Amino acid sequence: AEMRHARVKRTKTVCTYCGVGCSFDVWTRDRHILKIEPMHGPANGISTCVKGKFAWDFVNSPKRLTSPLLRQGDTFVEVTWEKAMEVIAEKFNAAKAEFGPDSLAFIASSKCTNEESYLMQKLARAVVGTNNIDNCSRYCQTPATMGLSRTVGYGGDTGSIADIEKAGLVLIIGSNTSESHPVLATRVKRSHKHRGQRLIVADLRKHEMAERADIFIRPNPSTDAVWLMAVAKYIVDHNLHAKDFVAQWVNKFDDYVKSIEPYTLEHAAATTGISVEVLETVALEIARAKGVCILWAMGVTQHCGGSDTSTSISNLLLLTGNYMKPGAGAYPLRGHNNVQGASDFGSMPNLFPGYQKVDDPEVRGKFEADWGVTLPVVKGLDNHGMIEAIHQGKLKVLYLKGEDTITSDANANHVDAAFRKLDFMVVQDVMFSQTAAYADLVLPASPSLEKEGTFTSTERRMQRLYRALDPLGYSLPDWEIIQMIANTLGARWNYTHPSEIMAEVARLTPMFAGVTYERLEGYKTLQWPVAKDGTDTPLLFTEKFPFPDGKAKFHPIEYLESSEETNATFDLHLNNGRVLEHFEQGAMTYQSPGIMAMTPENFVEVSPELAAERGLTSGSLVRVRSPYGQLRVQVLVTDRVQGKQLYMPMNSVLEPVNKLTGSHLDRATNTPAYKEISVEMVLLE
Ligand code: SF4
Repeated sequence: AEMRHARVKRTKTVCTYCGVGCSFDVWTRDRHILKIEPMHGPANGISTCVKGKFAWDFVNSPKRLTSPLLRQGDTFVEVTWEKAMEVIAEKFNAAKAEFGPDSLAFIASSKCTNEESYLMQKLARAVVGTNNIDNCSRYCQTPATMGLSRTVGYGGDTGSIADIEKAGLVLIIGSNTSESHPVLATRVKRSHKHRGQRLIVADLRKHEMAERADIFIRPNPSTDAVWLMAVAKYIVDHNLHAKDFVAQWVNKFDDYVKSIEPYTLEHAAATTGISVEVLETVALEIARAKGVCILWAMGVTQHCGGSDTSTSISNLLLLTGNYMKPGAGAYPLRGHNNVQGASDFGSMPNLFPGYQKVDDPEVRGKFEADWGVTLPVVKGLDNHGMIEAIHQGKLKVLYLKGEDTITSDANANHVDAAFRKLDFMVVQDVMFSQTAAYADLVLPASPSLEKEGTFTSTERRMQRLYRALDPLGYSLPDWEIIQMIANTLGARWNYTHPSEIMAEVARLTPMFAGVTYERLEGYKTLQWPVAKDGTDTPLLFTEKFPFPDGKAKFHPIEYLESSEETNATFDLHLNNGRVLEHFEQGAMTYQSPGIMAMTPENFVEVSPELAAERGLTSGSLVRVRSPYGQLRVQVLVTDRVQGKQLYMPMNSVLEPVNKLTGSHLDRATNTPAYKEISVEMVLLE
């Protein structure tokens, strides 16, 4: 018994599932994960959700990749790391020599650590010589970052998650918070129930938060910007805006007022389907509340107007003085555990770490001096541009880590055709994903429990994770693999620990100037920006906004209609999103038998009205078809959806919803408009 006890180990880690950033201790004995024990993490206190608590079976799954795999015809054979590096050197160098550095591209992962995102962009820029580097926040939250950058300067949550409890009113738009960010939702539920906090939810679907809300509105698809601007106009017209705040802190008020002029409540009612009375009530609630936090997610961002709607949210917060105090502000909810960090640490085609621009000669000079190389000047391709460049024959080699692009990118058939055209593709992951099936070389990576590093949660909070287990088989932490590749290609990196990578980032990035591993020891955390003396920033804007004159600015926008209206053939609107028990495309959660028993397969939610009209019942098998593809799923009749709205979880491996999504993009950021799909639905016998 004593022996057994001696082998029990307890290690602090950070949840690898969603952007809330719960931290806890994991108890292990050898490779067995005995239990998860929350220890007063700053985001979660002593809570976790079902994923954080139970979804760790994937770590020991027999499906884990344990050695590099090289394609031979239609199969893969195990090879050594030496052989894998030999192949990479040959293929990367050949493409670079024949077609130039921009014929290679790199996709980083929002599941990997900050240090790994940093090394990935350094590999692309400093070693290969291209800015073709992006990460999956392009698929979800880049529009939110855009909306905030335009208005208040920083693309992050304004305050801490705990601050949301101090708000008088929480407004949730296009976020299924209780399923996608469970522990954060628990805080909102608690303050709503026990402290009289008001809750307004705007969504197509009546999910749990909508059922709890004081006011639940269901605007027509892709019309959120309209009611947001109408509410703003009403507030200005009735002289209810925060005049002193606006005068002191915000530029361009007159331009903004002019831009919202056409958006009367009557006009908004006609476009959104919400009555004038309800819109008026919403406007009054927002104007009168003591502190408004607006939480939003992909129901807002994954539209052609995703950036513009995010901008309207921030404009409304400025108008009502809801910045610069706790319990107010903007909360774009980040999906993956490290969506925030992947962008913060420079895996972006136009930005170095800390949002420093690649086309700023002074910034570039700083990185060139530190890295001892000459860097590419023009900005690179984003994820969308990469797929197009492959189709155009310009992009030949893709190195992709920790992303299952074939299931997560929109218009899967178009992506499939692109991947088949590549000369050489490397996929690095924990498990053999659907995307790995396209690879020429598959590299085995270690998951969070097998490595050290830091993650940054949705509230800009940086937290350390420690190694609980040794890497399985020949798998390695991503940062070690990237370093091996860099050195294979002629670099001379010699990082022995992620803390050394962070020290380099801190020296080059004002936003992280004071970040050190000592200051992040154990359960200590830092919320960026972090000054050189280690002072961090729980509340983003206190003394000024990060613009030259210290003021924020209204950014007028104009509502443009959805890219894809329904028509005679494709007469239904399809929405999609998460279900609690699964994560993304399920590569990790589908490994947990307990979870599979609860939520076995994909389905499409159909409203009772539509089911009656079409003669469908729960369990009916239907074919759902869009202009881009089709799939077969079972019907689930539920009043969570209404009228001609359908809803499908996005987590299916077998019938991924992205067979149906198209190539429309957010106008400002190229984020796919996943939520704008028109489909037809046919009953199969
Ligand atoms: Fe993990 Fe998110 Fe659940 Fe917290 S709320 S345990 S971070 S999945």
